[in-house]
Amino acid sequence: MQAPRDVFPPLPSSRLNLLLQRWWGRQSPSRQDRLATLAPLTSVLLFLAAITFAFWYLRNEEVSRAEESLRRDTEVAQQEIRLHLVDNQEQLLRIAREVATRAITPEQFVTQAAGFLQARPAVRYLNWLNAKGELRATQSLQSGAGLEDATAIEHGTAVVDGDGPASVPQASEAALEAARAMRQPTYSRPFRNVDGVWVFQLQVPIIDRGAFAGVLVAEYGLDTLLRTAVPAEVTVRHPVSILDVDFSPLVSTVTNLPGQRSAPPSMTLDLPLTPAANGLMLRGQGYRTTAGLVGNTLFWMVVALSALTVWTLLATWRHMRRRAQIQNALINETNFRRAMENSMLTGMRATDMDGRVTYVNPAFCAMTGYSESDLLDTLPPFPYWPSDRVDEHMRIFQQELQGRSPAGGIEVKVQRKDGSNFDARLYVSPLIDPRGQQTGWMTSMTNITEAKRIRDQLSASHERFTTVLEGLDAAVSVLSVQQGELLFANRSYRLWFGADARGHDLLANGDAAYTEVPEDDVDAMSGLPTQELTEVGTHPREVYVESLQMWFDVRTRYLQWTDGRLAQMLIATDITARRRVEEQAQQQAERAQVTSRLVTMGEMASSVAHELNQPLTAITNYCNGIVSRVRNNAINTEELVAALQKTARQAERAGQVIHRIRAFVKKSEPQRQAAKAQDIVEDAVELAGIELRRRKVAIHTYVAQRLPLLRVDPILIEQVLMNLLKNAAEAIDTAQMPAERRHIELQVVPRQSPDEGSVIEFSVTDAGPGMREEVITRLFEAFFSTKAEGLGIGLSLCRSIIESHHGRMRAENLYNGSTVIGCRFAFTLPVDQTPPADRLPAPAVPKDVSASNPNAAAS
Ligand code: ADP
Repeated sequence: MQAPRDVFPPLPSSRLNLLLQRWWGRQSPSRQDRLATLAPLTSVLLFLAAITFAFWYLRNEEVSRAEESLRRDTEVAQQEIRLHLVDNQEQLLRIAREVATRAITPEQFVTQAAGFLQARPAVRYLNWLNAKGELRATQSLQSGAGLEDATAIEHGTAVVDGDGPASVPQASEAALEAARAMRQPTYSRPFRNVDGVWVFQLQVPIIDRGAFAGVLVAEYGLDTLLRTAVPAEVTVRHPVSILDVDFSPLVSTVTNLPGQRSAPPSMTLDLPLTPAANGLMLRGQGYRTTAGLVGNTLFWMVVALSALTVWTLLATWRHMRRRAQIQNALINETNFRRAMENSMLTGMRATDMDGRVTYVNPAFCAMTGYSESDLLDTLPPFPYWPSDRVDEHMRIFQQELQGRSPAGGIEVKVQRKDGSNFDARLYVSPLIDPRGQQTGWMTSMTNITEAKRIRDQLSASHERFTTVLEGLDAAVSVLSVQQGELLFANRSYRLWFGADARGHDLLANGDAAYTEVPEDDVDAMSGLPTQELTEVGTHPREVYVESLQMWFDVRTRYLQWTDGRLAQMLIATDITARRRVEEQAQQQAERAQVTSRLVTMGEMASSVAHELNQPLTAITNYCNGIVSRVRNNAINTEELVAALQKTARQAERAGQVIHRIRAFVKKSEPQRQAAKAQDIVEDAVELAGIELRRRKVAIHTYVAQRLPLLRVDPILIEQVLMNLLKNAAEAIDTAQMPAERRHIELQVVPRQSPDEGSVIEFSVTDAGPGMREEVITRLFEAFFSTKAEGLGIGLSLCRSIIESHHGRMRAENLYNGSTVIGCRFAFTLPVDQTPPADRLPAPAVPKDVSASNPNAAAS
């Protein structure tokens, strides 16, 4: 293929073309543009210059031709006149010789002269003058010949005035003199003759044997000479005139009308009138023809056309420059769009109206793994359609072509060239050309595999979350704090409170049965950053909803909602069942407490009976004594009053015991109040004292002074103390402890513990037998008793009472080495938080409270 090109060198023209093309290719585009504009401009200017030159050349040519013609004509005229004059002169010389040699007569001369004049109209007359200048004969064409005429002529010439014509004789005489002197034919200066016609004379001397014998005078009319000598074809072309020595025109072939001035000739040529040598000049005149005007019009038309062409070229150039700018902008725009398309991660595919692929961008190729050439000009089914989904793709594609694709895009599976699949989303939009006509469809494709996976995960987790929330027995609701709008409510919430925010409000702000949230907690949050708000703890509240007759455990929490708003989340758990159980347990506990007190009193019945027996016996004795002494009149009034007062005191004492027992066993609602430990201890010791005295057990009581008040139910605490004292006394009595160990110590002291804070501790210490190990571990179990008739509910009840007062209870043996020397039961009660009357602990003062009746007191 290459060989022929190498073998045959390119033709010179094609080589030049090649060089030109190379050179052109080397030029920058802007330079190419400039050259493309300048070249025609230059050629137009060159053309204009050539035309101008051609016109100038033609004009010059024409002028020189005209000059040439003028010269030729003028020379012809000069030649003709010269021939004329020379011929005449020779004729006259011949006549002069004949006059001299043959001595002809004037008459003969006239005949000859007539013959001479006949053929020469330019010669007005011919005179023969003798040596003295006298006229011998004359002959003229107009007046004929005659000697007598000579005088008239002589006379005639003499009358001419001296101004101009005054030179007539002088010019004539000067010629005569010259002819005489030089013996040569002589031409005179021109002058106007008597007719007013410009003439000049030729004087030919007559030499007779060497002597001057006269002269022949021939007068030429200048006008006639011009007309007869110069050929008509010359005068037709160029006016010819004869000038004087001072260049003033004397005669011309053209005669102007009177008062009309002839146009100045554009060119003249002056030649001497030979052989006259009298200073006369022959002038040929030339006039430019109308060709100049025609040439001018053409020239200006060419100039105008060239100017138009130049203007058009400049306009074209400007237009081209504008076009080039637009083209540049377009190229930039195209490059930008191309770069954008290439860097884009979205695949783009264009199809024509029949579904043929007309364009794919690099991202589309990268996504599918097919090259551009694989995809261009293909018709469906496309190679990237998964083989098992061709039908589905075809259906979607038909939708696309009919323009029914959903605006939100279509999700499809796409198969890469390597066989792997990915999820894609397609968006279809019509391709509109600049004329507004649709030429096809543009489809964009995005890989959504990852997005889909995340979305699936999200929706799954959302589903799980919803399922959990919806399945919860608790009501969950979220309320926006500012707008009070219910943002979320789960199934339980909707079931109980409907779909509005009232339920939330009710639970969050309604009457709480037991609330620990200070009301100003929410207010205190104003101004806090939301991050901190969400940290605000969840305070549980128990709320009773009247309309539902249900109890809820309500926990609220502030959080930032998904849109950034501050919201309150509320979780309300149904605790109605628990509350019922608790209430029942409470009621049962109360019943148990009362029962326990009744049991205690039942157990103390014999002691109480014994206790009551004493005042009753005393009353009986007093009454019997009074009766017998009244019967015997052995009593005066004072003694009687004193005896009755003693009787009343005993009755009062019995009444007090009964009142106290009644107060203790009375079934009353548990109620807390500010109570003094001292009062409680006194009441308990007074009641327990009945039993202690019967069992011959001593008690020592120590209550620290200035104790803070307690917020307790005094009867219940009294019950606890009674129980502990009774157990201690029973243990001592049952173990038949010797007298030195038959005592109990009751102490009430303030105490500060790290986990309970400031509390008051009650302790009952006995010197009894103590407890076995297994007893200690089961001590607080209900119905645990080591006694044959014991119920075993005392201690368990005591502990629940103490714990319901937020106190603690414990029991321990007391040892001396390894020997048990008794046991100690202690419980604590928290101090009343309401401002106490006096809280400073006073120096402890031991107080020995023995039985009120010293008679019954055991020692
Ligand atoms: P009950 O008195 O009806 O047996 P309690 O619950 O009051 O029931 O007492 C349970 C048991 O604890 C008693 O049976 C007894 O064995 C033991 N106990 C209680 N107090 C003492 C004490 N001070 N010394 C020794 N054992 C005691």
